[in-house]
Amino acid sequence: FRRSSSLFLNPTTNRLGFFRLRTMASHIVGYPRMGPNRELKFALESFWDGKSSAEELQKVAADLRSTIWKQMADAGIKYIPSNSFSYYDQVLDTTAMVGAVPPRYGWNGGEIGFDAYFSMARGNASAPAMEMTKWFDTNYHYIVPELGPDVKFSYASHKAVNEFKEAKALGIESIPVLVGPVSFLLLSKPAKGVEKSFSLLSLVENILPVYKEVVAELKSAGAAWIQFDEPTLVMDLESHKLQAFTHAYSELESSLAGLNVIIETYFADVPVEAYKTLTALKGVTGFGFDLVRGTRTLDLIKGGFPSGKHLFAGVVDGRNIWANDLSASLNILQALEDIVGKEKIVVSTSCSLLHTAVDLVNETKLDKEIKSWLAFAAQKVVEVNALANALSGQKDEAFFSANAAAHASKKSSPRVTNEAVQKAAAALKGSDHRRATNVSARLDAQQKKLNLPILPTTTLGSFPQTMELRKVRREYKARKISEDEYVKAIKEEINKVVKLQEELDIDVLVHGEPERNDMVEYFGEQLSGFAFTVNGWVQSYGSRCVKPPIIYGDVSRPKAMTVFWSSMAQSMTGRPMKGMLTGPVTILNWSFVRDDQPRFETCYQIALAIKDEVEDLEKAGINVIQIDEAALREGLPLRKSEQAFYLDWAVHSFRITNCGVKDTSQIHTHMCYSNFNDIIHAIIDMDADVISIENSRSDEKLLSIFREGVKYGAGIGPGVYDIHSPRIPSTEEIADRVNKMLAVLESNILWVNPDCGLKTRKYGEVKPALSNMVAAAKLLRNQL
Ligand code: GLN
Ligand code: ZN
Repeated sequence: FRRSSSLFLNPTTNRLGFFRLRTMASHIVGYPRMGPNRELKFALESFWDGKSSAEELQKVAADLRSTIWKQMADAGIKYIPSNSFSYYDQVLDTTAMVGAVPPRYGWNGGEIGFDAYFSMARGNASAPAMEMTKWFDTNYHYIVPELGPDVKFSYASHKAVNEFKEAKALGIESIPVLVGPVSFLLLSKPAKGVEKSFSLLSLVENILPVYKEVVAELKSAGAAWIQFDEPTLVMDLESHKLQAFTHAYSELESSLAGLNVIIETYFADVPVEAYKTLTALKGVTGFGFDLVRGTRTLDLIKGGFPSGKHLFAGVVDGRNIWANDLSASLNILQALEDIVGKEKIVVSTSCSLLHTAVDLVNETKLDKEIKSWLAFAAQKVVEVNALANALSGQKDEAFFSANAAAHASKKSSPRVTNEAVQKAAAALKGSDHRRATNVSARLDAQQKKLNLPILPTTTLGSFPQTMELRKVRREYKARKISEDEYVKAIKEEINKVVKLQEELDIDVLVHGEPERNDMVEYFGEQLSGFAFTVNGWVQSYGSRCVKPPIIYGDVSRPKAMTVFWSSMAQSMTGRPMKGMLTGPVTILNWSFVRDDQPRFETCYQIALAIKDEVEDLEKAGINVIQIDEAALREGLPLRKSEQAFYLDWAVHSFRITNCGVKDTSQIHTHMCYSNFNDIIHAIIDMDADVISIENSRSDEKLLSIFREGVKYGAGIGPGVYDIHSPRIPSTEEIADRVNKMLAVLESNILWVNPDCGLKTRKYGEVKPALSNMVAAAKLLRNQL
């Protein structure tokens, strides 16, 4: 009764009173760690800077955990997760749990503390950090375990057990969450030196003993349930990988006896074969499915669900910020209940709430109507519980009708629907949009106009963002300085950047983007259909968070967004000045997108708005326009069968933006990743005149595409140095890299540019680096 006493604290549900003591089956897969005001971020950064102690950091973390647990308990959640907290990343926590610290960190056994842990995450004086990569198709990044045949697993972090006990001491019977052993191995990479020859799954025998120890300790601490997250089950796995699940869980079966076990999947539906494997696993009590992204999950379950097992039905979306459509979810739940039985259905989130914002309560500046359409993590917990109550006959009518009213208001709101935009976007479907002339003819026409040297030099957009610059923008936003003062300050900055590029003798200039703090927010703020939160942060990696804009309605462009600054910049120089835009796919992929129409429709709307901007820039005399698609790859669906469709509409959206320009207008695009060997044909199909891409880690990977005979006729600028590092590359080094590219690519299509924008660098680094870059280009021109 300790938990139930606090139920009455919840104002939205307290009228249910005593009846809520009946066990309503509700479950949360995982919860954000940062805190409603990014408390963890600030505590971490202060600890890393040596400004606070380990104890202070631990205190902040413990407070956050207890607040979250209590909040879930107060909301009435039955199955509350523990160990979903992390100081950095849950995969790194698992690496620590199994003692798989790479030798370079000099860890000598014993319980892993902050030293070894944060060294792996961030590097230390003698060893670089472990690699970080995207967690499935989210914007969360995990630390990739490095495993070789010599790895000696040992039980080296008791975090899961400690956090379980901590919750228990607070009166919360939690479900400890572990990254499952098979997903852990599949998400790892082979250690250096064994890349080709080593099968990660061969380690399954070695890793299971540690999991057994953890399980045994959790049992003796009083755990009744345990959750293994095995999200790799939603991927296209070969049969030997599926067999690894069967094998691992039958190995664990006797250890798990006496515990209830959930295998949790998320981010897509589970492919048919994987579903068979999953539902046949030994020793498992229940299965968690994403019913939001997993569009076929429902059919799978209808097709057969093992009797007597629990179904954790993820109907509340953990990937966005929209209020759930409660009555629609209730219908789904009731249909599922008919299949699996009343006692066996548990209402859940589609995935961990890690991927949504924390608490709507802090959004004091959001418009009231828009706010009524939203639910962040804290509100989603309440939704899950309301659905569980409704399912068991305790429907909170007031809560449901408020939800229905919010949905109705969204459907009919004039701020959501713009008929003209809807019509224009609908007209795009099924048709194709391409420039009339092919790329080589266009490049000829452009060269006549631009008259560029061979191996032309350029940069990708932003120049260093100084403190003064940030201050000017902040003060203008807060109306502390007038528009005139603001324009004057930005104009001076642009002038400085233009003069610098002329001195450096760069061929195609940029204005430096001093007026932008973020490449998506800047456009979102000027487009209609977008809303912005003050505190809607989502963890990206470690202490880093992003605050995605919310696309709630039809997107349109009330007026030109960049023409003022770009034409001002062009007027300062005789050299070509690049107009600088963010592409529709990137704006889409870095926002919270409305879920009441397909994503491609929203993307087409943004494409039309950007198209108008491209055409206005062209009219204003801007002959080179860069449309960044930094995030095109991020939206690639997890499952191969869905990728072609995505690439088709994404690439189409990009082409829509510039299909109407003259041959002499040169369209550039830029991408922040080099791993596109598998999507190269889609990239070519974007039909940009020039593409600049990240290339800092390996020339080989990129060049192998062309060596293997992919036909490529457009301009290409593989980054010649890494802007993520303060290191200044020498002229020889850059020349050497360009030479390697020239061995594979024609000299008349090659551009010379850095990897990405220079925003995060200092002028002290940028000036010598660019000067060496231009020197390298000139050196090679003389040799060609
Ligand atoms: N034009 C942007 C800049 O230079 C590109 C940034 C990016 O690709 N992430 O800042
Ligand atoms: Zn970039």
